[in-house]
Amino acid sequence: MPDYKIAVLEGDGIGPEVTREAVKVLKKVARLTDGLNLSFENHAVGAAEYLANGNPLPESAFEACEKSDAVLLGAMGLPDVRWPDGKEMTPQIDLRERLDLYFGKRPIYLFHESDSPLKGYRAGEIDFVIVRENTEGLFSARLSQTRSDDEVHDVMRITRHASERIITAAFELATDRRNKVTLVDKANVLPSMVFFRQVFDEIAAKYPSVETDRVYVDAASLYLVQSPETFDVLVTENMFGDILSDLAAGLIGGLGVAPSGDIGDSCGVFQPSHGSAPTIAGQGIANPIATILSAAEMLHWLGSEQSITAAGRIEAATRMALADPANRTSDMGGKLSTAQMGDSICQKMEQSA
Ligand code: ATP
Repeated sequence: MPDYKIAVLEGDGIGPEVTREAVKVLKKVARLTDGLNLSFENHAVGAAEYLANGNPLPESAFEACEKSDAVLLGAMGLPDVRWPDGKEMTPQIDLRERLDLYFGKRPIYLFHESDSPLKGYRAGEIDFVIVRENTEGLFSARLSQTRSDDEVHDVMRITRHASERIITAAFELATDRRNKVTLVDKANVLPSMVFFRQVFDEIAAKYPSVETDRVYVDAASLYLVQSPETFDVLVTENMFGDILSDLAAGLIGGLGVAPSGDIGDSCGVFQPSHGSAPTIAGQGIANPIATILSAAEMLHWLGSEQSITAAGRIEAATRMALADPANRTSDMGGKLSTAQMGDSICQKMEQSA
């Protein structure tokens, strides 16, 4: 009988509010799913923890994440809380790197036609996944010290090892979906991206039944807006993935409905694509759906029959809740509070159980 221990990192800003709704939904789905046991352990992390104890990611919290079956995270960081050198603290990126969570999974799914700024797309007609390399690319420059008074270099680091594993993950994902992978790069300009494309071509040759496409990142930004229905799985380096994920979230109703998973070979951290949104924190108006759907991603990844059934229940209930255009938080034009949105998804699960 699957019995999963979930480490919960609520974090900063709206993190605690949205995470509580996701835990509420998880508790409900565990009650409705025979044989699924979930237990939760909260750990303090983030900017507030730094102010309290001097470390945004205490070792005890890190070890608890390592030992848990999966991690559910709200959001970390606050713009005014910085390291003495002025840099914003990003413990979620430290966690990604220390746990080697190389596979950034960013599913994009349109639940209701009224949520897209694009005209003519019905529910389910925008349905793709951005696979973001999480451990190197242009983000690898964030810790480098190549700075003089007059010049700063940010290096785009692309290794064979990291490229092979992320591109393989993208192809494996596509075989469970609509069998298409689009490489997003800048191989017309950057040697690092020529190399990334070369590795892509090598891996693609091992998956002859998967259709492939190769698109420069600037063109990808255009096509995502003009014809999002043509995409199934997109794979790209860290920084391009970061930017395109936000653009893609805009196609389906915004950051409030865009989930994500940061996945390694033995650990997974699941969190909304949005940040801590400090300007709306504490008002009970944040949209919890991205975190609730991230919890569903977590259950898929846990991979037992029961957890996969539970993930499907959460997704179906979200679809039902959003079928009524009035049933939304204010970021999507509705009047529901954070807690009412969570309650609505719990109710739909209860009704269809
Ligand atoms: P980060 O750099 O950590 O990704 P950010 O400051 O760029 O964070 P967010 O915190 O994600 O951005 O917020 C961006 C905008 O989206 C803000 O205007 C915020 O109010 C809005 N937003 C983000 N998440 C939500 C949510 N769950 N519900 C409602 N609005 C949200």
